[in-house]
Amino acid sequence: MRVKLIQIAGSDQSVANIAGISYNKELSSVDRLIPFLIKNGHHSPFEHTLLTFYVEVPIFVARQIMRHRIGFSWNEMSRRYVDSEPEFDVSWHGGEGDIDFPIAGLLADIKKMYVSLNKGGLKMREFARQILPVCTTTKIYMSCNIRSFWNFQVLRNSPHAQAETRQFAKLLLEELLKREEYSVSNKYFLETLKC
Ligand SMILES: Cc1cc2nc3c(=O)[nH]c(=O)nc-3n(C[C@H](O)[C@H](O)[C@H](O)COP(=O)(O)OP(=O)(O)OC[C@H]3O[C@@H](n4cnc5c(N)ncnc54)[C@H](O)[C@@H]3O)c2cc1C
Repeated sequence: MRVKLIQIAGSDQSVANIAGISYNKELSSVDRLIPFLIKNGHHSPFEHTLLTFYVEVPIFVARQIMRHRIGFSWNEMSRRYVDSEPEFDVSWHGGEGDIDFPIAGLLADIKKMYVSLNKGGLKMREFARQILPVCTTTKIYMSCNIRSFWNFQVLRNSPHAQAETRQFAKLLLEELLKREEYSVSNKYFLETLKC
C-alpha cells in the first residue's frame, strides 16, 4: 500500500475566518475557536478545505474506501486503457487456525493468463481484467475536505474495520500529521477518534 498527500488547501486560520462570517468579521483566535467548533458539532466551516492523496491499494480496500460519498472525489486507473502486469497485495493477519492454500501459485497462474489474454486492444483488455482478483493493486487520486477526512478516520481507523483498511486509514493520517496547516483542528478531531 502506498499513500502520498500531494495537495493541501486551507488552514486552521482559513477555517476560523470562514466561521467568522456568522459575526460578519474574521475571527483570529484559532486556539479557542477551532476546539469550540469541533466540540459543538459546528463542522461546516471545515468543508471549505481540500486534501488530495495519491494512493495504491488492493481493490478490496478500494471498494470499502470508495463507499465514502460525501465530500470525496475519486479518480481511478482503468484497466480498459492500462495493460501493465498486475501486482497483488495479499496479507494474513492471523485468526482462527492457519491458512494452507497455494495462493502464490494461484496468483502466478492468474497473472500469466491475464498477460496472455491482454494482447489485442481495448476489447481484450475489458475481457482480461475480469479474471483479476480483488487483491490486485489499483491506483487512485482521492480528494476530501477535513470534515469528511475525519468522518472517514472515525469509521475506518477503528478496530471494527478490516485490518488492511485500518492500516490504510493510518497511513492517510500519518501523511496529514506531517503537515502544519491543520495542527489545531487535527489535535481536537483526534480526540473523537477512539483507537
Ligand atoms: C466496519 C464497517 C463495516 C461495514 N460493513 C458494510 C457492509 O457489510 N455492507 C455495506 O454495504 N456497507 C458496509 N460498510 C459501509 C458503511 O455502511 C458506509 O457506507 C461507509 O462506511 C461510508 O460511511 P458514511 O456513509 O458515513 O460516509 P459518507 O458516504 O461519506 O457520508 C458521510 C455522512 O453523510 C451523511 N449521509 C450520507 N449520505 C446520506 C443519505 N443518503 N442520507 C442521509 N445522510 C447521509 C451521513 O451522516 C454520513 O455519515 C461498513 C463500514 C464500516 C466502517
